[in-house]
Formats: sequence, structure tokens, C-alpha cells
Amino acid sequence: MSTIRLDNVTKEFSDVTAVDDVDFEIEDSELLVLVGPSGCGKTTLLRTITGLETPTEGDVYIDENRVTDIPARKRDVALVFQNFALFPHMSVFENISFNLRMQGDLDDGEIEARVEDIAEMLDIDDLLQRDISELSGGQKQRVSLGRAIVTNPAAFMLDEPLANLDANLRDQMETEIVRLQKRLGITTVHVTHNQSEAMTMGDRIAVMNDGEIQQLGSPETVFYEPANLFVARFIGSPTMNLVNATVGDDRVRVGGFGDATLSVPVETDIVGDRSVVLGVRPEHVAVRQDDPGGGEWLSMEVAFEEFHGANRYLFFDPPGIEEFVAQVDSSENVGTGDRVSVRPVPDQVHLFDPA
Ligand code: ADP
Ligand code: MG
Repeated sequence: MSTIRLDNVTKEFSDVTAVDDVDFEIEDSELLVLVGPSGCGKTTLLRTITGLETPTEGDVYIDENRVTDIPARKRDVALVFQNFALFPHMSVFENISFNLRMQGDLDDGEIEARVEDIAEMLDIDDLLQRDISELSGGQKQRVSLGRAIVTNPAAFMLDEPLANLDANLRDQMETEIVRLQKRLGITTVHVTHNQSEAMTMGDRIAVMNDGEIQQLGSPETVFYEPANLFVARFIGSPTMNLVNATVGDDRVRVGGFGDATLSVPVETDIVGDRSVVLGVRPEHVAVRQDDPGGGEWLSMEVAFEEFHGANRYLFFDPPGIEEFVAQVDSSENVGTGDRVSVRPVPDQVHLFDPA
């Protein structure tokens, strides 16, 4: 088992900076999810850890040993790809045992025992004699996971392994990968562009954009305390409500709700007026059916609602703002067409620098 440390790692390809001064540490046995939009540098970062790319600047450490110049085959880091990359004309058993045979350390009996052990963990033990061409997408993905972990590598890199699976299967595999990872205690980096997958799976989440880590923290931290506007826009479904505002003198004022201006008390050092973006999560929007007046509540009509089991989302359509969403308990007697009073819960308001 292993720790992984990136020390100011930059990777440039001619005129593209794919990874820009990335600095973090992955703990032993941790499952870190690296999440960000397509093209933000996730694969390049993973390949740099694996040893398939050499950083332009900075260093990679595994267990505090500098491995920056050590080739991939000597790093003992397993990589699983989105497109499975299995040998199509071999059986499941042959695919999973391939790397073990290449290593040449175990005899046939030991190889067989180890493959069966892993296949059982992945629930593919009854498929070992099948050809790869006879498998479903989900089964292929299990085989490619098995092939990677059968050698008991120091760390496990998963590059969007679930991207080609349909939604139900993906949910199921998310849980299974976490279960497998916890059971083996193997230090893992799982890459995805899907924020909900990241939330479900990660011990910690690194949000990446434009080659840079925007925030690294627990799912709760990234969700409730986004470090900047990019993270606030990227994480959550629905995401945080974000509206232009002005802050000063311990108040944040939001125009743009038609004629009304909303004023919310905040604690801030800012003197005078400054433009900010006010963020508030839908669960931190208070909704009441009476009209308390006093300039701290907005009267708005519920444009439509969405049922999500224990909760419902109420969508508002205030003029000048794309969308404003409140989460209420499903038992609340409020819904589409109702006029209600709404305000952000004052101590749950986030202020961001405008982009
Ligand atoms: P992601 O996996 O997040 O989609 P990548 O790491 O694949 O992102 O790519 C990050 C950036 O680096 C992109 O702009 C991509 O075009 C560029 N890039 C990646 N690999 C190469 C390469 N071998 N040569 C040139 N540019 C590359
Ligand atoms: Mg990629």
C-alpha cells in the first residue's frame, strides 16, 4: 500500500499546459476522485502518476520515493482505461491472468488461485472460460478491473472506467468499485467528468479545471464550501444558486429579482460597495407561505416543481436571473403556481469573486 505525492507538477504539450502546477498528496488506502470537464487534464495527470508521461516540471513521489524518472513498468501502478483495452480473442481467465504470467513469479496453481479469488470478488467467477466477445459492457469492465488488480499493485488508477456504461449499471459499479477498493485497501485515483459519481465515490475529491486543481476536500466540503465560482457551478445537481450581488456594511444586496431588492445580513470585512456573486444551496433557501415583509424576503411564484423522494425542488423564474431553486421537504404543502416568500438563510450564504 502506498502514498502518492505530486510536487508542483506541470505537463506541457507544445503550446498546451495540460497540467498546471499541481500539488497534492494521496493518503495510503485513500480513494481520491479527480473530477473535471473534458480536456481539463485528468488523463494527463493520471498518466504522469503512472509514469506514461514525464512532467515538464515538478516531481512525483510514491511512498516518499521520487519516481519522476522511473518508467511505468517499474512503478507498480495499475491503470484501467475507459475502453477496457482487453484482449478480444482470449478468455476471461486468460485476460485476468495475463499480467501475472508476464511477471513470471507464480506457478500455474498459484495463478489460478489468485485469478479465482479476484474473479469472485468481482462476481465474474462463473465467466472465467468465456471469450471477451461474449461479455456485456459491465462484465468487460469487471474483467479489466480484475486484470489490473490481480498483480496486487501499489496503487490503482482508473481513467473514466464507467463512462461507457448506462446509468443504472454505472450506479451499481460505483458502489462495487468503492467496496473493492475498501476491501483491498489499495490507494486509488478514480477519474470522472461526472460530479455525482465523484460525490458518491470519493473519500476526497479533487476538482480540476484548465490544468489546475480548483479545490481538494471531502465531498461535503466541496459541496457545501466550494472554494470558488468554478466549483460552485460544477458540483451538485441542482448546483448552488448563484446571483450577482453587491456587498458592503455587513449586508449583501441582490437586485435582479424584477423590481425587488433582497438584503441579507452577512459578516464581512468589506467596507463600501463591492460586486460579488452570492451563492446559496437550494437546501439553504428558506420558503414560507405568508409574507413577512421588511425587505428580507422575496415574494415569488413557483414556476414548477420536481419530486425527489423525501425532498422536492421548487424552481423559480425571477426576471433577470436564470433560475432560482429551493429545496423543501416533500411533506410541505407548497407547489407549482403558489406564491411564496423566499430568502437565503443568512449564515449559509457564500460570496464569490465574480469570474
Ligand atoms: P481530460 O482527460 O481531462 O479530458 P487530457 O489530459 O486528455 O484531459 O488533456 C488535457 C489537454 O492536454 C487537452 O487540451 C489535450 O488536448 C491536451 N493533450 C493531452 N495529451 C496530449 C498530447 N499527447 N499531445 C498534445 N496535447 C495533448
Ligand atoms: Mg481523459
